[in-house]
Amino acid sequence: MPGPVTAAEVDRVVGVAFDPLRHKWVFVADAAEGQVVPTPKLAGSLLMSGTVLDEHSGDMGNMVFGRPGAVLRPRGVEDVAAMVAFCAERGISVAARGAKHTVFGQGLVPDGLVVDMTSLRAVHTIGEGVADVDAGLLWHDLVVEAAGRGVRFPALTHFLGLTVGGTLSVGGISAAYRFGGQVELVREMQVVTGRGDVVWCSRERQPDLFRAALAGLGQVGIITRVRLEVVAMPDTVHTHELVFGAERMGDAFAVLRELMDRREADELFLWVWPPTGSGGPEFRVHVARFGDGTTGDRHLLRDLPEPDRHSRGEQDYLSFALTHDTMFEQVRRDGAWDRLKKPWFDVFVADEDVEDHLGALIRSMSPEDWSPGTGFVLAFPHEADGFTAPRLRVPKGTSRVWLCDALTTNSADTGSPATFSARALARNALWEQRFDVVSAPDTGADPDEGSFVYPIGAKEWTARAWRRHYGSTWPEVVAAKHRYDPRRILTPGPGMVFDADPSGPAAP
Ligand SMILES: Cc1cc2nc3c(=O)[nH]c(=O)nc-3n(C[C@H](O)[C@H](O)[C@H](O)COP(=O)(O)OP(=O)(O)OC[C@H]3O[C@@H](n4cnc5c(N)ncnc54)[C@H](O)[C@@H]3O)c2cc1C
Repeated sequence: MPGPVTAAEVDRVVGVAFDPLRHKWVFVADAAEGQVVPTPKLAGSLLMSGTVLDEHSGDMGNMVFGRPGAVLRPRGVEDVAAMVAFCAERGISVAARGAKHTVFGQGLVPDGLVVDMTSLRAVHTIGEGVADVDAGLLWHDLVVEAAGRGVRFPALTHFLGLTVGGTLSVGGISAAYRFGGQVELVREMQVVTGRGDVVWCSRERQPDLFRAALAGLGQVGIITRVRLEVVAMPDTVHTHELVFGAERMGDAFAVLRELMDRREADELFLWVWPPTGSGGPEFRVHVARFGDGTTGDRHLLRDLPEPDRHSRGEQDYLSFALTHDTMFEQVRRDGAWDRLKKPWFDVFVADEDVEDHLGALIRSMSPEDWSPGTGFVLAFPHEADGFTAPRLRVPKGTSRVWLCDALTTNSADTGSPATFSARALARNALWEQRFDVVSAPDTGADPDEGSFVYPIGAKEWTARAWRRHYGSTWPEVVAAKHRYDPRRILTPGPGMVFDADPSGPAAP
């Protein structure tokens, strides 16, 4: 959430302009007459005071930094469109920012313009199976507002302090295993393209923009408003935690697969807890089933391998949806967690490979990789059919896809912080090789077959890695960029490199 603008800032920001000769944002008061181009008249504010720029110089990963030249706090879509058009004309880089929770500079725009989306956070309407909201709204606020009207979004991320536009720009993976990414549940959205045009798009209306913007990493436009599917809220949620010891990873996977096949549970995920003392890691299967308050869920877990421990609960939907936010508030209490480095490793793996790859990763993890107290491993199973959005790259030719996350931090008792980042990035590159990730360094694997990085984590991308990541869809990625962001001003953080030829060469 942006902090309040001080009176001193307001004084100065009244006159932010652009100096085309030095290709630099400046305060009008500091510029010689005729030297600068005035910016469009805005309902919101354009800021360049030090505190505001500092706020947008890093992200939750604390590993990559880059100070923007100015920050727009828009009051409406017109402000976003006017400033993007202004920047497009002059070749100035622009990136939208939501809650700033990506961990490797994906939203940074050194010397360019940040569009702080958190100032666009209205809930327009909720009803008739659809919620119409601004993209800068936090999921937390949407969940609370929707619950007040008896509805819910079907596929929530674990932590809800993220913006709607932020997760839709990457994909948005939940424990609701039947839906694919959150991007599958968007009916329509409003996008400001890299030309500064305001366009409503959907599967029927300008579908190429719709396909390119969802999980599009901000490459073709800024998502400003979204119409999302909502469904009735359950009266109650039954939850189970089934704990399997270090030698029983196979049983944990067997339970998850069986429950997926039965389709009786509503949410499933695996939480791998770090080894403690002489014991190995624990595999905790989390199961949730939504109910109407009259029937229990006694048959849900029938004929499954017996866990070493089993705890169950029942709660109202809103408490359930906020479970991880509540836990997370404790971890973040003193702000220390926010300052940790987070070289997170996130990959989508086919069902056939997940146990081998994840098992090998877990066996290879050092105490530093686990970073007990602040780090752990997660795996989210999904029905592969759920994934149709083309920019969200997941393995094909399999019935189930797993998102595996190793959430390492440099918590206090791990190795030297000075070399931590370099070590962790080298480790991630090695893990990519082990997971047969198509964009791994030095890989020769078929770019349409293998595992895929979920680009929310820490990876040093190259032009070749991006091409391989998109495989046979790369020409489509390039064509959409050419059409909707021809000056290539949008979202430099991911480091994608585009050729001049819109058809683009095929991935090597
Ligand atoms: C604690 C934590 C828990 C998480 N849990 C999950 C999870 O359960 N599932 C999951 O899938 N991910 C999860 N993530 C990752 C998260 O979904 C992504 O990092 C997401 O992009 C963060 O949203 P944000 O609002 O912070 O976006 P930002 O970090 O501000 O932006 C992310 C990227 O999207 C672009 N962008 C932001 N808003 C827009 C917009 N409106 N239009 C176009 N581009 C935009 C930015 O330029 C940037 O490149 C988690 C991250 C953290 C730190």
